[in-house]
Amino acid sequence: MTHWMSSLAVRAGLTALLSAGALPAQVAQPLYMPRAVKKAFATGARSADGRPGPKYWQNRGRYSITITAAPPDRTIRGAEQIVYANNSPDTLHRLVIKLFINIHRPGAPRNDGASEDYLTPGVQIDRFAVNGTTTAWRDDPRYFTWQPVTLATPIAPHDSVRLSFDWHYEISKEAGREGMLDSTTYYLAYFYPRVAVYDDYNGWDTMTFTDAQEFYSDFNDYDVTVRVPAGFVVWGTGTLENAPDLLQAEPLRRFQSSFTSDTTVHVATKADMTARQATRQGDENAWHFTATNVPDMTFALSDHYVWDAASVVVDDATHRRASVQSAFNDTAADFHHMVQFGRHSLDWLSHNWPGVPYPYEKTTIVQGSADMEYPMMVNDGSNADTSFSRFVVEHEIAHTYFPFYMGINETRYGFMDEGWATTFEYLIGVADVGRQHADEFYRQFRVNGWARDPSPLEDLPIITPEDVLSGVAYGSNAYGKPSLGYLAMKDLLGDDVFKKCLHAFIDRWHGRHPIPWDFFNTFNDVSGKNLNWFWNNWFFSNNYVDLAMRGVKKMAGGYSATIDNIGGMAAPFDLHVTYGDGTAQTIHETPAVWRANQRTAVVTIATRKTVRAARVATGIWVDADTTNNAPPR
Ligand SMILES: [Zn+2]
Repeated sequence: MTHWMSSLAVRAGLTALLSAGALPAQVAQPLYMPRAVKKAFATGARSADGRPGPKYWQNRGRYSITITAAPPDRTIRGAEQIVYANNSPDTLHRLVIKLFINIHRPGAPRNDGASEDYLTPGVQIDRFAVNGTTTAWRDDPRYFTWQPVTLATPIAPHDSVRLSFDWHYEISKEAGREGMLDSTTYYLAYFYPRVAVYDDYNGWDTMTFTDAQEFYSDFNDYDVTVRVPAGFVVWGTGTLENAPDLLQAEPLRRFQSSFTSDTTVHVATKADMTARQATRQGDENAWHFTATNVPDMTFALSDHYVWDAASVVVDDATHRRASVQSAFNDTAADFHHMVQFGRHSLDWLSHNWPGVPYPYEKTTIVQGSADMEYPMMVNDGSNADTSFSRFVVEHEIAHTYFPFYMGINETRYGFMDEGWATTFEYLIGVADVGRQHADEFYRQFRVNGWARDPSPLEDLPIITPEDVLSGVAYGSNAYGKPSLGYLAMKDLLGDDVFKKCLHAFIDRWHGRHPIPWDFFNTFNDVSGKNLNWFWNNWFFSNNYVDLAMRGVKKMAGGYSATIDNIGGMAAPFDLHVTYGDGTAQTIHETPAVWRANQRTAVVTIATRKTVRAARVATGIWVDADTTNNAPPR
C-alpha cells in the first residue's frame, strides 16, 4: 500500500578514507543469517550463489470457489474445494488454515482500534470436509486469523489432500482493504479460507494477521465464480471467462474492443448502469474468473459503478497487450483518468524499471479507500489532486512485481515489497514530473514524513522481521530506508549492472518465494562483486545518513576535502565546489567511497583554481544534520 510516510531522517555520517588499496577483512564478512535460514541453505533448498537450490520446493493449491453476494444484504456465502499438494520433504500431520476476515471479530488482536462498523462475527464455517469426509470444525478461541487443523491421515511428501469449506460472513460496513464501499458496492479480499504457506525456512506460517501485514501466499490456481443479482458488474483478478453470457450486446462489443484500444472505452456508462443496459437481465449472473500461478484473488462488485477499459503493449517482442480497466463512481473526477494512468504505469514499468514486461493479462483499478494492491487489482481512494491519484496508482501497480510476481514474504520482509514499490514509484515520478519535483516529493513523503524524532525506531536494522515492527519503525524500514538502499546500490553499480542483477533476481525467483539472502547473493553473483560490505551497512546495521565536512585543504594539484560519516550509512553524495572565479563544479561519489566501512572519506579536487566554498549534499538520501555539511568556520 502507499501510506507509510517514512521518517527516516537519513543521517549519514561518513567516515571513510578514500584509499584504493586492499580492503580489510570485514569487507568480505558474511551476512548475518538466522539459524532457520542457514538450515534452508544446508538442505539445498537455496543456493549460496543466489539461485533456488537443487532441492528447492514450495507447496501449491488448486482452489475452486463459488461466492454468492446480493447487496444490500451483507451476507457473503462461499463454497470451495482446495486440492493442496505437499511438495515438501516433510510429512504434514496438521494444516494451518488462514481466516483473515476474523480480524473483524471483537477481541481479535489488531494493529489499530476498531469502530462498531468494523466489527462483525467473522467467518462462520458451515461445513468442513477432508478428502470427502465431513469433519467437525473447531475454532480454537486462542487464535483468530488462523486455525490449526490436525489431520486424521497425515499428508506424505508428494501427496495431496482435498479440503472442502462452506462458509459465510457479514461484510464489514467499514471498508479497509476489504468491505462495503457503499451499500451496493463491495470489495472482496481475504475472503476465502486458504492453506497457510508451509516453507523451507519457517515451516507453517502461523503469523496472526493484525492488518499491518499484507501478503504471504502460495502460488495457486484459481477457478472462481461470483454469483450476483442481474444488474451487478463484477471485476476481479484473472480472466473473465464468460463475458458474452453476462453483458448485453453493446457493452460486450465495447469491452472486447478495449483489448486493442489505446484510448479509453466506456464499457458501461452511468446511463447504462442506471437503465440496467450493461448486464444481461435475469435473476442472477454468475461471473466466472480463472487465474493460474497467482498468490491471491480479489473482486469488486457494484450495481452503479461505471466501467472504463483500454489496453497497452507491455511486451515489444511479442506485441502482447495488457488490459487496463477501472471501476468507479461517475462523480470521481480523477478516476476518469485512471485507465490512462494505469496504461502509463504498465508501459513505463514494462519498458524502464524494472524493465520486465508486465507479467499478467490485466489490471483493474477500483475506487475504494485502501490505497492497496492485489494481484491484477488496485483499491484506491479518490483524490481532489489528480496528480496524487496518479502517484498512488503507479505505486500500487508497481507492487505487481514485488510481492506478487516474486512471491515475497511481505509479512516478514516488508522491505522486499514496499521498498521496491517505493523505488519504482520514485523512478517513474522522475519521468512524470522531473527530477527536482520527484526528489522533493520523495524527501517529504518517504523520508521526512514524521515531525517528532523517532530515531530509536527508525534506526532499527532493515532486516528486522516486519511483524515485530509498527508505526515509524515499520514505515521507515519497509518503505523509505530500503528504497534508499536500493537506489544507493543503483548508484554504486551503475544502471546497466544494477538492471542486470535485478533481472537475474526476477528471472531466478519469479513464481517462487525468495528471501533477502537470495536477493543479496544474486546481486553478489551477477555483479561479480562481493557486496556484503554494502548489504551489512544498509540492511543489517543501525546506521543512518549524516555526513559532515571536516575541512578542505590545499595540496599539490588542487585540494582535498575530508568528509566524516557520522551516521555510518554508505550513502552517495555530491561535493559542490565553488571557485574564486565564480565557477562551480560538482563531484559525485558513489557509496563505493565507504567500501572499507571506514568513517572518513577524502575527496580530491583536482584544480588550478582557488576553492572559495565546498559543501557536501546527499539529495534524496536526506542528511539528518545539514548544519555540518560545509567546513567549520
Ligand atoms: Zn505499497
